[in-house]
Amino acid sequence: MTWERVNAEREEPISVDLAQRRILSLVHPLPAHTVPLADAFGLALAADVRATVPIPPFRNSAMDGYAVRAVDCADLPATLRIIGQVAAGDWTEEDIGSGATIRIMTGAPVPNGTDAVIPFELVQAKADTLLVSSPVRPGANIRLVGEDIEAGAIVATVGEVVSAALAGALAAVGAAQVAVRRRPRVAILSTGDELVPPGTPLKPGKIWDANAPMLAGLVRLAGGEPHSLGIAADVADDIRSRLTRAGTPDLYITSGGVSAGDFDMVKDVLRADGSVSVCQVQMKPGRPLAIGTINEIPMIGLPGNPAAAYVSFLQFAWPAIRRLLGSARPSLDEIDAVLDAPVSDRQGRRTFARGVLESRGGRMTVTPAVRQGSAMIRGLVESNCLIVIPEDREHVSAGDLVSVQLLPDARLSHSQRRT
Ligand code: AMP
Ligand code: MG
Repeated sequence: MTWERVNAEREEPISVDLAQRRILSLVHPLPAHTVPLADAFGLALAADVRATVPIPPFRNSAMDGYAVRAVDCADLPATLRIIGQVAAGDWTEEDIGSGATIRIMTGAPVPNGTDAVIPFELVQAKADTLLVSSPVRPGANIRLVGEDIEAGAIVATVGEVVSAALAGALAAVGAAQVAVRRRPRVAILSTGDELVPPGTPLKPGKIWDANAPMLAGLVRLAGGEPHSLGIAADVADDIRSRLTRAGTPDLYITSGGVSAGDFDMVKDVLRADGSVSVCQVQMKPGRPLAIGTINEIPMIGLPGNPAAAYVSFLQFAWPAIRRLLGSARPSLDEIDAVLDAPVSDRQGRRTFARGVLESRGGRMTVTPAVRQGSAMIRGLVESNCLIVIPEDREHVSAGDLVSVQLLPDARLSHSQRRT
């Protein structure tokens, strides 16, 4: 989809939702292929995965102890004959006769005839005799066939991203290979005459490029593979040649150069070379945003201020990467929390205040970070969430319930670092 090239300065501001819809209309899930399970972590499944066998596949012991028939222990104390031992990995078809018991280890198959396992600590064993003096419930400490996952059950559905837990579940049902969508390649370009890479001495008027590594980290967290295009000067040719040198990424992300400043070139290059429009999005921080395609590759131009770039990435680039990945849930998770200090909101703009979310007195409470400036990177580091104040909300005071987005690299323990 393309739309008219417009003059940013004259375009009507658009809502965050509309900007998101425009971006999502440009991206589509990447092709699927089959990979070894070990390579699937963080990727979205392209097909459902079913269990072909029940898990556990056989009745097994949940404890180290003795496998018994509960009826043999109805009259206490009971004395049973110990006839052997079964360990995890063993297999026996033998039926344990009445009055007998067998030592059994956790995970070992429960022998036919027995229907309970008594842990070692509840019995006394002397030579080949076992003394049982506490009651035994039929079924105690036995894991049943299929009690975890039934045969034929869907273990994972299309669009689910393979988490550590899901990788474990997929392996448990024997999935050696899974169909996933390809990992999105995301080319990242910083723009600005003032930028130099860390490692280069700082001359007067220059600053180190903070956005490139920050955005690369976010790309990775979203499930993409970042490719750095370095820093482009505010010169059309430099921007153009760096973008085209990128090969064929699945998404371009630039930062800087989209605001109304005289030297901001990105928008001019994009207008000339692609189908990109520079919008004014009703949000804070952030506002200018470029959306479109360059040589049919989707492109998102983020504002230059680090906090604005970070917040804008999460609202626009995050869902785009998740869509490329094929994730069924492209947006960040949101939860409700009680605000414990006022947030200065801007009527008509959706406010994303950086904040610290923590559980206090049994309820989730969120405290706005001290540094809210869109150029302030430290406020981000000290935060673990974004407090979302809708554009039409009149006042937000301490005690109000607000929606918060969890930052993808949030560490709840970070609240300790608040200053
Ligand atoms: P711009 O969007 O290009 O007008 O930039 C807005 C502000 O963000 C300016 O103060 C820039 O110096 C700053 N800025 C732009 N890109 C970066 C970057 N990669 N790292 C740190 N600050 C940046
Ligand atoms: Mg700039």
